[in-house]
Amino acid sequence: MLVPVDRIVWAKLEAGDKRAEAAFFGHIDGGPRSLDEALNFWAQAPAPQSGFGEVSQVGRNVDKSGGKRDRVNLPSKKDEKTKASVRALHDAGLIHIDSNALKQSERDVRIGFGNTPDQVKDRVDEILSRYPTPLIDLLGQDEVRIRVVAKIDPAKDEFGRLLPGVDGRYNGANRSITVTASALHQNLGVFDEELVHAFDHLLGSRGKAGRLSEGEMVAFPGFAEIGKTIKSQFDSGEHFIDEYSKGNPREFLAAWLKEFGAIDPEDREVLRGISPVMYSVVERLLDEGFVREAMR
Ligand SMILES: [Zn+2]
Repeated sequence: MLVPVDRIVWAKLEAGDKRAEAAFFGHIDGGPRSLDEALNFWAQAPAPQSGFGEVSQVGRNVDKSGGKRDRVNLPSKKDEKTKASVRALHDAGLIHIDSNALKQSERDVRIGFGNTPDQVKDRVDEILSRYPTPLIDLLGQDEVRIRVVAKIDPAKDEFGRLLPGVDGRYNGANRSITVTASALHQNLGVFDEELVHAFDHLLGSRGKAGRLSEGEMVAFPGFAEIGKTIKSQFDSGEHFIDEYSKGNPREFLAAWLKEFGAIDPEDREVLRGISPVMYSVVERLLDEGFVREAMR
């Protein structure tokens, strides 16, 4: 595990500052308890090329097991228009952080957010800000509710058996996204995935029936070609990012968008190699200008 340390903290650690030591060390059993010990650990660690090499290029486009997720690194836009769009969702009361969302979360989650619900809200805003403003506005127009909770109760299957727990869910029946504070803390694309499901639903039928990715419904004619393309790419039985996304076109689209966001921009050619067509679909869905034009 690597923890970023800035120069000031480094200087304190070098000087043997006990408070800085307590903040940075001693949280991992068997881990280093001081800067000296940490440097020792580091000196004995295997050189990077023997442990970490070749992961991004080849490893990534091989099927991943259903549960594997990558950090999404799409840039959060900081312009006034984006800020206003996100603020409008708050003003409309569509974003709710449960009062126990942090309190009942694990310690690392609470600490990660400084025990401050406001920081949870900031993370929600930051992730929303990755997407084109017309899509953020559409969440408001179609009243998609976003709720942050400590835990999501596992759903039951048709026989009443508990399904595996999830940390994010988009419920199309009432157009709501639920995400755990833990998922927001890890920032591994869970909230992004649920947002994509919501966008897919709104762009397909304004959240009333089918999804864009299913290729049969489209709420804005400018997206018609994209909808048909996603469906035909899914139907081709190729171009899958992972096992999970073979289930249906909704997950197929979500996996593509998340992987696009997770992969380093300089490695994106790998994705283009899996499907230049899907690559272009994702690029357009994330493009402010394209989306604005398509929704006119
Ligand atoms: Zn999903």
